[in-house]
Amino acid sequence: MDELELDATLMNKWLGDKKITDLSPKTLYDIQSLIEYYRDVIVPDKNVKIKFPVEGTPCANPDDMEIEIPYSMLAEGRIDNTIGAMIHELRHIQDTPVRAETVAPIWAMLNTILNSLKLPNGKTLAEVVFSDCSYSLDRIVAEPDEDEKADPHLDFLREAVGLLFGLANACEDVRIDANTPPNLKKYIDGIDSRAWAKFEEAMKNDVIEDWDFLQATIFRFLFHHKGFYKDEMIEKYSPSTQSIIENDAVGAIIDTFAGFRDLCQQEVARLYDNFCPNKSEQGNDGQGNNELDMFNDYVGDMVTEEVQKSIATQAGNAKGFEIDPKDVSAIIENLKEDTTLEAENTSGDKEMSNELCESNGTVNAVVLHTKKTAKEFSKSMNSDHRAKLISAELNTQIQNFKNIQVHTTTEDFGTNQNTTYDCVIFDATKN
Ligand SMILES: [Zn+2]
Repeated sequence: MDELELDATLMNKWLGDKKITDLSPKTLYDIQSLIEYYRDVIVPDKNVKIKFPVEGTPCANPDDMEIEIPYSMLAEGRIDNTIGAMIHELRHIQDTPVRAETVAPIWAMLNTILNSLKLPNGKTLAEVVFSDCSYSLDRIVAEPDEDEKADPHLDFLREAVGLLFGLANACEDVRIDANTPPNLKKYIDGIDSRAWAKFEEAMKNDVIEDWDFLQATIFRFLFHHKGFYKDEMIEKYSPSTQSIIENDAVGAIIDTFAGFRDLCQQEVARLYDNFCPNKSEQGNDGQGNNELDMFNDYVGDMVTEEVQKSIATQAGNAKGFEIDPKDVSAIIENLKEDTTLEAENTSGDKEMSNELCESNGTVNAVVLHTKKTAKEFSKSMNSDHRAKLISAELNTQIQNFKNIQVHTTTEDFGTNQNTTYDCVIFDATKN
């Protein structure tokens, strides 16, 4: 880990003389201990477990009272950022309701949208996707199982729930960060400014191709409400920053969904078209007139209703949303018209840039920017090129400091003189 620049400005101030200059196992252990100290300050009344996994992104699980702060940030030398991530995750434990409460408005929103969208065969998306009676909320929000057989409907539902979760989470992040005491918030501000610098650059260079869709909107929402820039679209549809900050978690999520309902509906239609492309364009099939078809439709409708009801019960009660019914095909048609236009423009730009490059003889004269989706952008934002993951071996070394106990003892060794000495004990029973 040589040549690693350590960013521990705030933390060094806190430590006084004992500056962090290296990332030895002992330093990493001290940082972990400090993190545990912050935990006792921020959530003294709760028994929160902190895990330091070897890789991943910081996250909190209010249900299990557990947070994860991966080593990767530390391994990149981002000590202040690590503290910031930890404070943010602890604030979730302190302030974000358990999943049972936050999942209710998210599911209510998705369910309303699924019932509002019609396919060319006259059925709603809800009628089509919930014809599988094996769906449960747990299955939909679960990570895909490798042995699970391919199921476009389930994949579609997972992606849609994930995106709505993303918007709800952005809203909750704005709320809890703004309500974090200033002495702790400065660490979170450090992470935000770093992320903003990357986003601002992507924005300036017009790199994000799905700028007007939900994934990019989630970023725009965050940076707008955190005061980094003014986004007119967000201002138009979102509840005000003030109302998000002063609201409770679920109330703020409901207001945010209500504001962005048309965008969310469009996104769900788009996702359905991505996952099940033939169905959204299909003509009037399946509207059979024979008795067997009518019987199947009848039974099918009952199954669908049952599945919807049971998932709604699993998700918990939430205030409903009002969304105008729309045809999936009309939404897709609209989007296709817009994208064709954009695609033409983009290829035009690229050609022109290449020409300029050649005529100038230098690549630097015109920087070519590769377009990315907001999802790809978010992945590139999380991983740093310098990221070196900590090895399992180093992890063991760090954890071993927990087992070391220093006892100061005074003893008379028979010389009528007291000798004071330090005794180092390695407690192998701890882990
Ligand atoms: Zn968060």
